Amino acid sequence: MTLAYIALGSNLGDAQAQVLGAFAALDALPQTRLLARSPLYLTPPWGVLEQPPFINAVAQIDTALTPHELLDALLKVERAAGRVRDGERWGPRTLDLDVLHMDGVALSDDRLTLPHPRMAERAFVLLPLNDLAPALALPGQGKVADLLAAMDTTGCERLP
Ligand code: ATP
Ligand code: CA
Ligand code: CA
Repeated sequence: MTLAYIALGSNLGDAQAQVLGAFAALDALPQTRLLARSPLYLTPPWGVLEQPPFINAVAQIDTALTPHELLDALLKVERAAGRVRDGERWGPRTLDLDVLHMDGVALSDDRLTLPHPRMAERAFVLLPLNDLAPALALPGQGKVADLLAAMDTTGCERLP
């Protein structure tokens, strides 16, 4: 089994319900177990600013799926949540599930890059990831807790 961290995000429809449903969907994946879920955060949009705020969280899972099998499973959960890819990058979505990190895995091909290349520059990823794995080291970038300490988290709010 391999330990992995998944980023969850939603800003269309009932975003909070989508993210909570996604935690359950992760636990229901074949050969996969949900180990921990972060608190939920309300965060400002990133990349494309003219869209509703996001609900973001991170899940820690244990899985026997290969990295590409895991990606395919996540894309399927996104589709089941009504995700439509209209070509606009970083636009509004009912559910986004990204693989942030899998223990011992570093790879990049046309479908999958691990660790996720943009995680260190995103407060909406580092905040919930820090709740679960502050000591996790991102190759060449440092520890999650240190990256978060250097990050502007203005506008991000942890939900009760
Ligand atoms: P970003 O990757 O910057 O967060 P995004 O999540 O909005 O952007 P998507 O449209 O959801 O981008 O995904 C585009 C493609 O990214 C996916 O179809 C997938 O093949 C690819 N991808 C590459 N690396 C990863 C990863 N670590 N996790 C999820 N998808 C990935
Ligand atoms: Ca994403
Ligand atoms: Ca994605």
